[in-house]
Amino acid sequence: RFITIEGIDGAGKSTQTANLLKFLKDKGIDVVHTREPGGTPPGEKIREMLLSDEMGATAETLLFFAARAEHVEKVIQPALDAGRWVVSDRFTDATYAYQAGGKGFSGEKIEALEHWTLGNFEPDLTILFDIAPEKAAERLRARAGNEDRFERMGVDFFTRVRNAYLLRARNSPSRFLIVDAEQSPDEVARRIAQGVAQWL
Ligand code: C5P
Repeated sequence: RFITIEGIDGAGKSTQTANLLKFLKDKGIDVVHTREPGGTPPGEKIREMLLSDEMGATAETLLFFAARAEHVEKVIQPALDAGRWVVSDRFTDATYAYQAGGKGFSGEKIEALEHWTLGNFEPDLTILFDIAPEKAAERLRARAGNEDRFERMGVDFFTRVRNAYLLRARNSPSRFLIVDAEQSPDEVARRIAQGVAQWL
């Protein structure tokens, strides 16, 4: 099975992904952890480009899909074929949220690229960490070195990203588990465990 983790920057994805992996491993599930952009050597190089150079939304979107094609072909699909589970920190929903929702890139073009690159392949479960951008910014400020992107893109940008995520979740309720990421880390972990156990 293929699980993806989504949410705006500062939602606590990294911490909670570690909890989810432990939860699955404790259940005896053989799970591979990966991330986007990245996940393969060329994907990590694309990640560096995406994070260090400001570029237009078209180039950015195409690079995300280039990295994703490689990621699915080399990492995700082989693991699933071998009967393993895959947890990916971000996937296609992030492109809809950031590039379409945040930057105003065409959602129809993303849909076309999605079908062209992945066919009907999609996550079995997507855990969406939902948090108000102001709260997320606060968290990132408390963690040195990370606030830069938030300051640069602004709260409005992350509000649009958040709303795009929520809209995707509303349109595919059976695939999404929305977790209120403003709760304490322990409470968030508890809700994930509960939601995933139910889904299992
Ligand atoms: O999730 P992670 O922190 O690894 O993402 C790295 C950066 O890439 C984040 O700052 C995120 O906002 C950005 N990103 C993006 N568009 C995406 C996915 C991630 O701008 N589709």
